[in-house]
Amino acid sequence: MKYFSTNNTELRYSFKEAVIKGLAPDKGLFFPVSIPKLSDAFFKNLPNLSLPEIGFEVAKHFVGDDISDANLREITEEVLNFPIPVVPVEEGISTLELFHGPTCAFKDVGARFMSRCLSAFAKKSQEDVTILVATSGDTGSAVANGFLGVEGVQVIILYPAGKVSKIQEQQLTTMGQNITALEVDGTFDDCQALVKTAFADKELNEKLNLTSANSINIARLLPQSFYYFYAWAQMQPTNKKLVFSVPSGNYGNLTGGLLAKQMGLPIHSFVAAANKNKVVPDYLASGKYEPKASVQTISNAMDVGTPSNFARMMEMYQDRHADVIKDVNGAWYTDEETEEAMLDVYNRTKYILDPHGAVAYLGLKKYLNVKDELGIFLETAHPAKFKDTVEAVLNTEIKIPDYLQECLGKKKLSFLISKEFNDFKAYLLKID
Ligand SMILES: *Cc1c(COP(=O)(O)O)cnc(C)c1O
Repeated sequence: MKYFSTNNTELRYSFKEAVIKGLAPDKGLFFPVSIPKLSDAFFKNLPNLSLPEIGFEVAKHFVGDDISDANLREITEEVLNFPIPVVPVEEGISTLELFHGPTCAFKDVGARFMSRCLSAFAKKSQEDVTILVATSGDTGSAVANGFLGVEGVQVIILYPAGKVSKIQEQQLTTMGQNITALEVDGTFDDCQALVKTAFADKELNEKLNLTSANSINIARLLPQSFYYFYAWAQMQPTNKKLVFSVPSGNYGNLTGGLLAKQMGLPIHSFVAAANKNKVVPDYLASGKYEPKASVQTISNAMDVGTPSNFARMMEMYQDRHADVIKDVNGAWYTDEETEEAMLDVYNRTKYILDPHGAVAYLGLKKYLNVKDELGIFLETAHPAKFKDTVEAVLNTEIKIPDYLQECLGKKKLSFLISKEFNDFKAYLLKID
């Protein structure tokens, strides 16, 4: 499979090039030149396949020869080693729980897959790579955890001192092994500026083989299609149509679902569910796309005003609004509505929604026709990650999963640096 850039559909890149580069040289996003249709035999057998088997069967079309089949099988088995169950919530509505990975968020799937792909390339070329990640909290821990113990890859995370939550800081600073945390005396923007300057620094690049682990990496997007197949498989047999509602920020998760549908998975439709950052629901309603500055909400992982995967959505539908809205309905909700949904679902069913899942639940309720449809909303984070909000809304205590609890008790290990590039560079040159 070859890839092009959403800014230039003429040039061709291999999967390996696309993964290592992250972003195309013209700043476009990598996208496969064609989306493979999976065979009837695959769909017939799908209900019998395990999640790693599904991952392999789907991924091989996109990876091609860049990773051998045997290696790709190992990768999908290692990456998808936690459950992703469909759990019934109420009549006609279930949730796909994507939060059973190491950092309790759906980003674990993409981050782990990308890390193994980069490791496979590093091993082949026998050159170690160094990943630099600036984080304001959540993404950093999923990425760092994805790379934990992965051979041939060193990870350096930069986070702003005093500006991430306690649990996030513990997740970033207690991993050890090949993961180093740098606490920057500055803001998230300072961290990002340091990373950008490092990528432009010739000496550092030559010495450390710098790579980014950006959220727009194609190797983070692809695996986000696997679990739609797995969810569909878990719902069989049924003669009802399936509708997925996806709590969205950068729209990578939804794009994964659209990809699965274009590969032939019989999904009837999607709901693009947003909080007050509603540029995509607005686009679906009006046909006009108007990026905006983001506003803060309780579903903060979705606080995105300029969703990066919108370009990929447009690529899939050739910018045809009329076609997009055949597959995708838009909905958005305020924090008050989100909290009401959390409380209502808890009171009726005892199921605990996190704020992101609650937005998706609401979107599903808006569009689902229970007569002939089954609805699945994606739960993207464990409610314990948003403990304060969830406990305040439900007026009950929630249990922190053991592995999160464990990291709270570990000793923090980080290096404090200033926001001056020269300090950062001196540090990087020392570690070799
Ligand atoms: C990142 C994230 C989202 C948004 O996913 P996108 O792929 O960016 O749309 C939703 N919920 C949680 C908990 C997240 O961490």
